[in-house]
Amino acid sequence: QTPGSVGADLRNLVNAAALYAARRGSSVVTMADFTESIEKTLLGPERNILLTPLDRERIAYHESGHALLGLLVSGADPVRKVTIIPRGMALGVTVQSPIDDRFNYGEDYLRARIVGALGGRAAESLVYGVVTTGAENDLQQVTQIAHEMVVRWGMSPVVGPLNYAHDDGAAFQKPYSEATAKLIDDEVKRIADECFQDARRLLKEHRNKLDDLARALLEHDSLDEKEILAVTGLTPPGKPPLVTHS
Ligand code: ZN
Repeated sequence: QTPGSVGADLRNLVNAAALYAARRGSSVVTMADFTESIEKTLLGPERNILLTPLDRERIAYHESGHALLGLLVSGADPVRKVTIIPRGMALGVTVQSPIDDRFNYGEDYLRARIVGALGGRAAESLVYGVVTTGAENDLQQVTQIAHEMVVRWGMSPVVGPLNYAHDDGAAFQKPYSEATAKLIDDEVKRIADECFQDARRLLKEHRNKLDDLARALLEHDSLDEKEILAVTGLTPPGKPPLVTHS
């Protein structure tokens, strides 16, 4: 559950887990202590917010949309947990983490990330017909990944196998023409639109699973990987094919 962490991260994580064990009066550190430590480090502390039943239901559907797409889209990272307990800045959280450390990503994987990130909004639009501001952070992710696909990784056939990315912020003079800028914008939008349609279509096809998952979340607040699979009757999608180009 900790790919990408360096030694110092792991040390902090283990220290925090030991503190939780001590707080419980236990002389041994259990997996539950580690889980709590990972979640707190990753997601921030739990917050006590009073939500209306409708808001809670909406959040349950939003998170269920993310979680379900994490299971349905091949190449997506495994869904470890989904919760509608507000933590940090988030009203609900779906935790997905890769199987191992990865340094190179295929286009399928990136699209799976975008489809998953749009799952919350897609679920809201499917169930309620309207969307809320709750997807702001999701949309930031979508924009960033789709933009990098087009300008950095040459994944738009229209823009071509070119790298227009720059790392030093706003001061940089664009190395491309206004016509190319327009192409880039159009392609980023196309990718996001296609992924949103995929997200909505998949959730519509599996509407009963979406309802089951949201209902289970409303009842239990949080579900772990095993519980999510049990509720949906799904198995995790297979490992994405390895990318071997360097
Ligand atoms: Zn979301």
